Amino acid sequence: MPANPRPASPGQHKNSSQLDRELQSGKIFRLLVERIQDYAIFLLDTDGCVASWNPGAERMKGYRRDEIIGKHFSVFYTEPDLAIRKPWHELEVAAETGRYEDEGWRLRKDGTRFWANVIITAVRDENGTLLGFGKITRDLSERREAEQRYRLLIEGVTDYAIFSLDPHGVVTSWNTGAQRIKGYSAEEIVGRHFSSFYTPEDAETGLPRHVLKTAAETGHYAGEGWRVRKDGTRFWSSVVVTALRNEGGELIGFSKITRDMSDRKKLLDTIQQHADELELRVAEREQTNAELEAFSYSVSHDLRSPLRAIEGFADMLATDFGEQLPEQAKIYLEQIATATRRMNRLVQDLLEYSRLSRIELTPSAADIATVIENARQQVDEAMREHIHVTAPAGLQAHVHEPTLTQVIYNLIANGLKFHAAGKQPRVEVMAERLAGKIRIKVCDEGIGIAPEHHDRIFQVFERLHSTSKYPGTGIGLAIVKRGIQRMGGNISLQSGPGKGSIFTLELPAA
Ligand code: ADP
Repeated sequence: MPANPRPASPGQHKNSSQLDRELQSGKIFRLLVERIQDYAIFLLDTDGCVASWNPGAERMKGYRRDEIIGKHFSVFYTEPDLAIRKPWHELEVAAETGRYEDEGWRLRKDGTRFWANVIITAVRDENGTLLGFGKITRDLSERREAEQRYRLLIEGVTDYAIFSLDPHGVVTSWNTGAQRIKGYSAEEIVGRHFSSFYTPEDAETGLPRHVLKTAAETGHYAGEGWRVRKDGTRFWSSVVVTALRNEGGELIGFSKITRDMSDRKKLLDTIQQHADELELRVAEREQTNAELEAFSYSVSHDLRSPLRAIEGFADMLATDFGEQLPEQAKIYLEQIATATRRMNRLVQDLLEYSRLSRIELTPSAADIATVIENARQQVDEAMREHIHVTAPAGLQAHVHEPTLTQVIYNLIANGLKFHAAGKQPRVEVMAERLAGKIRIKVCDEGIGIAPEHHDRIFQVFERLHSTSKYPGTGIGLAIVKRGIQRMGGNISLQSGPGKGSIFTLELPAA
């Protein structure tokens, strides 16, 4: 069943017709005007004398009703405006065209100024006779101050070029930074198209158009590139363009912020150049290293068979003809055997070193206490009592276990070997976990190493002593360093002559 339209209540009906009657009589408008506080609304007679006054006018201008009624409205104007007869001119325009609008300084009763928006409307009767003028004044001082502050802020910025464009790309405002960076004064550039800032190449490919199109479509455009100053020189700039739209969404222009990044660009270019050079060097070095490693591998490999032959024949000579040989020949044979043994060690160590460089070292979780124990087991039984280990159970590193075992063995062996004359060797191995890393220290109380040799001893064949004093090949620490590096760890050394040595390894924890 369709609902009956609800009849208007009698009270409602009475109210709206009464409202209409009172509107006709103008009472409502009078009441409205009387209540309004934020606008000065008053009437002027045809000569410009104040004929009515609302509370808003009193609040804004400071005059009471009885003080101002009958006075000429030119009292609200400043000296310069009076000098050009502005009040009278405004009334003439309003009388002629029906309306006059202006923004400018006006005076309060106490002589202070405020920034006013003023609308003057001619009031005429049905026959068109001028009865007077209606005047509405709004105090815009606060807004003007905010705008002024904002404008001063933008204008004062010197590190950035901040300017605005109309929707077609014509420059409409220009700050100090823009003048400093681009070289044009505001008078020279306002009104010109912003494509003058682009290089001929960019202008040709339509970059300026693309920039505005992107900003209009997506809200903003950001980019870096070469721009041209007034004097034709180029600078590297970083640019942000933002589309400006009014409340209705209509495009009213663009703001553009440009920064001169030439110094940074120069720096980046230099860094890039260095990086390129470095990369080239590294590539060359890698090539040389690879060749050297291939060479040392084949040398070590190919050295082994003649070495085996020497060893074998010397052995046969001793076994088959030992009885017939004079004593001196036997001594020579013994020396041949010692030299070949040493040669064998050298070849083996070299092979191990180059193998460590070539093979894939796939890491996995390794128990550190076990690794240290395995390394200890490789030491001659008689010497093991001089090794003291402190490694908590469950400590795990992410390493290639055989390589780490070899590294620790080499360090322990050195610690035992380089002990001071007349003193018992003592090596201590300690392991701990520290901020995502496993730290292993191998310490001895031996002869120590002078600081100037700390780097050198990690290189192949670098030794500080004769083999007769301390036997060795000079490859042990090179293997240690290469192995640690290849497992993503690092090694450091604390030592001084007579002070013992501490080798510290840091490896990724598992
Ligand atoms: P090698 O031990 O076969 O001589 P390394 O490469 O292991 O070769 O060591 C190089 C040199 O560094 C040694 O010859 C020695 O002079 C010095 N060095 C290494 N470890 C120690 C240590 N723990 N104490 C004193 N000197 C050491």
